[in-house]
Amino acid sequence: MTADFVVKKIMIVEDNPVNQKVMQRLIKILGHESISITDGFEAFEKIKLLRPAVILMDIQLIDISGIDITRAVKDDPELKDIPVIVVTASATADDQEKIIRESKCDDYLSKPFLPQELSDKISRYIAVKEVDFK
Ligand code: MN
Repeated sequence: MTADFVVKKIMIVEDNPVNQKVMQRLIKILGHESISITDGFEAFEKIKLLRPAVILMDIQLIDISGIDITRAVKDDPELKDIPVIVVTASATADDQEKIIRESKCDDYLSKPFLPQELSDKISRYIAVKEVDFK
């Protein structure tokens, strides 16, 4: 970790409380703050208001698809530069490609993931604390 490490806000859009907890814990370990959103319809307004440094986006939410929220972010000139990492359990490479294409997300992480995998993805966009997960 460098001396100029800055704590940033990472938004978790996820309806599953267990997954939410896992990601909250990991983000804390990586040195950042998390904001968790369960309600998909709330997500876009919260993103506009809070301008997180990175967004972790579940696709299967209760009320709306994470694909639609991500595309709305990417179509908004003021928000489009916020990196969105889609985190979802997707069966095939075709599904994955479709989600990436339709959502215009920056990155994709399959569930279930290892802590190191989430760390690697987030560290493409913001500095994270170095953690030995082994
Ligand atoms: Mn879900």
